[in-house]
Amino acid sequence: HQQITHSGDSDSIKVFVRVRPLTQGTGLTTDGDQGLCLTVTSPNTIRLHSKPEPRTFTYDHVADMDITQDSVFSSVAKNIVESCINGYNGTIFAYGQTGSGKTFTMLGPSDFDNFTDDQRGVIPRSFEYLFFLINREVERSDNAKSFLCKCSFIEIYNEQIYDLLDSASASLFLRENIKKGVFVEGAVEKFVTSAAEAYQVLSMGWRNRRVASTSMNRESSRSHAVFTMTLESKETAKEVVNIRTSQLNLVDLAGSERQRDTHTEGSRLKEASSINRSLMCLGQVIMALVDVSNGKSRHICYRDSKLTFLLRDSLGGNAKTYIIANVHPGSKCFGETLSTLQFAQRAK
Ligand code: ADP
Ligand code: MG
Repeated sequence: HQQITHSGDSDSIKVFVRVRPLTQGTGLTTDGDQGLCLTVTSPNTIRLHSKPEPRTFTYDHVADMDITQDSVFSSVAKNIVESCINGYNGTIFAYGQTGSGKTFTMLGPSDFDNFTDDQRGVIPRSFEYLFFLINREVERSDNAKSFLCKCSFIEIYNEQIYDLLDSASASLFLRENIKKGVFVEGAVEKFVTSAAEAYQVLSMGWRNRRVASTSMNRESSRSHAVFTMTLESKETAKEVVNIRTSQLNLVDLAGSERQRDTHTEGSRLKEASSINRSLMCLGQVIMALVDVSNGKSRHICYRDSKLTFLLRDSLGGNAKTYIIANVHPGSKCFGETLSTLQFAQRAK
């Protein structure tokens, strides 16, 4: 176990709760007549209709069913993309049970081939904003500043790492060195010079993820998809060259629902426990970071799972993290919604 103690910045982890519409989409809603298990009571609070007493939870932001994709992007991602341009690492997670809208939030509707659709999610919008800012910086500096962007896209399934940009490769390993920090050894890195190019990389990886879920049995609701944009800025001033590197991580997490079939044996059971492991470790790392930001000294066990080790340099310290907790408002989802709200609360 390594011990890393960061100086605190209480603003470094934020939580955004998004309530999905009750009946749209396929997901979990087979019964549009079910009642609601919650009410959004203010832009920061949500009331869960629990018995005997309702419970109120408070977050940085709570968005009701009618929020647009554009305002989710503005509240959650704009700041993080801006600080990435300025050399800081950032991570955005979508957390929640299967069907709660994680993929909708991060990518858009499931058949997201239309780049200009206003339903596109946080990731394509982040690409557009990133390149808008890059072009502006380059112009403003009269070309004294330049940027290099490369993307990687991996999937963590059963505590194994797979390259979504090279479906033929075997599972990959994490390494670390002084120059790069933690990285996936051998993962494909694609250079991109525009939002459209980044989007092509994203959709290629997404297609591979779908294929792997049928042909390799890597069920995507049980895997974490991590898209990483690495940004290198180079500025020449008075013949001194200043290079800064930062990373933007966009993560569609595995479904947070508990494994119900506790009698399954062998590989399926192993699968369930290790998926919980990356999610569980993420919860622990985040809680430890919250303690640190409140001035306590804590061990942060990044190494305990693939996900937290991979993201070590982008969680805590100067990095900015946003967790989007997606919840389903249907009364049938009460249990999972409660558990997501509790997870999200612990991150505050
Ligand atoms: P998850 O990735 O958490 O399993 P999805 O994003 O796939 O969930 O959502 C399940 C279904 O509900 C999809 O068909 C999706 O398009 C739809 N959906 C989710 N959130 C919304 C929303 N805010 N508005 C409209 N449709 C949504
Ligand atoms: Mg999904």
